[in-house]
Amino acid sequence: MIKKAIDDARKIVIKIGSNTLAKSDGTINPGFMREFAGQCAALMKAGKQIVLVSSGAQVAGLSTLHRWSRKKDIHYRQALCAIGQVELMDNWRGAFAESGIHIGQLLLTKDDFEDDQRTLNMRNTIFTLVDEGVVPIINENDSVSYDEIKIGDNDNLSALTAILWSADLLILFSDIDGVYDKNPKDHADAKLIEVVQDLAALRGSISIGSTNSFGTGGIATKLEAAEKATAYGIPMLLANGSRPRCLGSLASGEQPGTMFLARG
Ligand code: ADP
Repeated sequence: MIKKAIDDARKIVIKIGSNTLAKSDGTINPGFMREFAGQCAALMKAGKQIVLVSSGAQVAGLSTLHRWSRKKDIHYRQALCAIGQVELMDNWRGAFAESGIHIGQLLLTKDDFEDDQRTLNMRNTIFTLVDEGVVPIINENDSVSYDEIKIGDNDNLSALTAILWSADLLILFSDIDGVYDKNPKDHADAKLIEVVQDLAALRGSISIGSTNSFGTGGIATKLEAAEKATAYGIPMLLANGSRPRCLGSLASGEQPGTMFLARG
């Protein structure tokens, strides 16, 4: 089913979580980024179009400026994102350059999606970049956003992006194989749920545990993303980005995941 979903999709939005982009010591993982960019390039060669939603600005900022690691003040956190975003994009730029692919950056907040003119401009920019073979890389504009205008997590941002671009498939990469009936980090006997047709029924039947060290939304925001995307007819796949060649092995049907089927 996963292989077929990827085979059938031409326009794919892929979200990569902080836990996937960071190594266990909390520094950004350029090796992962290079391998991942290579897999995106292979899919693009096969005729797919890709838009990335990448977390990791804060992690990249902390890796760059270790001395700010204990600062909790909002100004420092937003300043860290400003520093880290450059670092993050520099790594993505280098990673995609190995395959001769250019990238473009869009930093967005919730109110961008609520304003018709901005939405139109974002949509046109994404379409133009993709038409020209450039990979748009999107992140929340954490250095300027505050609670009222914040989307708050990149799971929801990636679903909004998929809807904006009329994607055929949304893939979220996290550090677990998919949604389990309980948190797999705390329960060795947790069972992977491979297909979700009814989100309300799923919500009632699983227990949601806490997130990881760098994670923001956890499973709750992944279910919100699934709700948004599937309501627009876009299926969503949640899979493990820390497995080797994750994108390629999903495309060849060798890697498990949770597939949220499109509604309507
Ligand atoms: P990311 O940074 O990749 O978005 P998060 O840390 O925000 O990741 O969310 C993923 C984490 O949610 C997993 O590592 C897992 O420990 C936790 N989690 C809690 N409950 C569940 C569940 N029922 N199924 C799967 N993962 C769960």
